[in-house]
Amino acid sequence: MSEEYTYDLVVVGGGPAGSSAAFAAAKKGIKVALIEKENSIAETVRTSGVTWIQNIKEFGIPDDCFNPIKNFSFCSPNNEVTISDVIPRAAVLDVRKTYRWLANEAEKAGANIFVKTNIKNIIKNENGDIVGVKGIGANGEIIFHSKVVIDATGFPSTICKAMGFAPQWERFGAGAEYEMKGENIDSETWWLMVGQQYSPAGYAWIFPLGDNIVRIGVGVGKPESNVDPTQRLKEIIEKKLGPIKKLGELKEIEFHYGLIPNDGLSRKTVFNNMILVGDSAGQANPLVLEGIRYAIKFGRVAGKVSAEAIKSGNTDEKSLYPYEENWRKEIESKINSAGKVQDRWIGLSDEEWDRELDIIKELKPEEFIDFIKADFGLSNMIKLATHHPKLAVRQLFNLVKGKK
Ligand SMILES: Cc1cc2nc3c(=O)[nH]c(=O)nc-3n(C[C@H](O)[C@H](O)[C@H](O)COP(=O)(O)OP(=O)(O)OC[C@H]3O[C@@H](n4cnc5c(N)ncnc54)[C@H](O)[C@@H]3O)c2cc1C
Repeated sequence: MSEEYTYDLVVVGGGPAGSSAAFAAAKKGIKVALIEKENSIAETVRTSGVTWIQNIKEFGIPDDCFNPIKNFSFCSPNNEVTISDVIPRAAVLDVRKTYRWLANEAEKAGANIFVKTNIKNIIKNENGDIVGVKGIGANGEIIFHSKVVIDATGFPSTICKAMGFAPQWERFGAGAEYEMKGENIDSETWWLMVGQQYSPAGYAWIFPLGDNIVRIGVGVGKPESNVDPTQRLKEIIEKKLGPIKKLGELKEIEFHYGLIPNDGLSRKTVFNNMILVGDSAGQANPLVLEGIRYAIKFGRVAGKVSAEAIKSGNTDEKSLYPYEENWRKEIESKINSAGKVQDRWIGLSDEEWDRELDIIKELKPEEFIDFIKADFGLSNMIKLATHHPKLAVRQLFNLVKGKK
């Protein structure tokens, strides 16, 4: 006998996108199931967890969930720059604590959480529209009927693919990371390391978590490079390349590995009775491939729009479209601009990276943050492209604006 449930909304995937969607929808008073295949929320960590304090505050994430970052250091084979701010604007999240807090907020708002429940298939009605999902739960086959399904399964996009709405991602980032205890960790400073020896198409990083703990990782763009990020990570740690040697003796705590889409905003994200959000929608800033804040922000929008459509009795594509309209208006042009900078960065030689760091050196902390966040508002881009005292910076921002 299979277990069978009926909900207004089923959210598949208990990552930041799914938990945020379930929270926003449950707050509107509808019946919500949040489904996660692992034994607990955030059992496996697949992210480095860097985000921005402004967003953390906006989401209400508690202070004990992150380590604040004030200084931003970059190194290339023969250059180095540190941009120091007066206040911390970035943060490294305690990923488990944060993701569990997000899921807990959803549960407090009334959502039912099902862990150990791996959704493998969809249920369609006579028109071919989705009306539920099924998979394997803790006690065998499990079936969920629902008016709307949100695909928040991340990179695999299980529901979207089962519906035949999109193929596998062609371009993506693969990242490997060790969480390690060190001897000499500056907890306020992150490092981004660029150049062939770190990653031929991507970058390496050191992100401190406080308490002498760091995440050291390597990200590699696929299909641009066939380098295995895990192998490269082991090599750079063994050789104690660049700033890694400053960290002293390192002891492994945990290994993380993950994939993130890098196909731009190529997917349609609303269909009859269905929404895609977070990585399954490809919503990531391509400059550094960060997607957590978009997953939370647009997860909440997806949950709210779904609940409103369900309450109105109409959950067709048009009724769910305000969600797509919302996120496209907010990030589409920024992500397209960031894609141009990413294209430039992915092809740089070591010497060109050395020179690129000279340009980054000229940025004030707030200009740097806007840049790395891909927060390319038209008015500040025009200002920087026209009036920045340094020609090279003006050229960089002209590229962002779309001029050669
Ligand atoms: C190596 C690496 C480093 C990164 N670093 C950063 C960073 O520093 N900052 C940043 O902002 N972003 C970073 N990202 C990107 C960020 O992790 C993602 O953008 C973000 O996790 C997207 O959230 P999500 O909820 O859409 O997907 P996910 O976090 O992937 O969550 C999806 C959830 O769905 C569950 N699931 C999947 N399939 C099923 C199924 N069939 N049934 C039930 N449950 C299922 C999974 O177990 C998972 O819990 C990084 C990514 C990688 C790979």
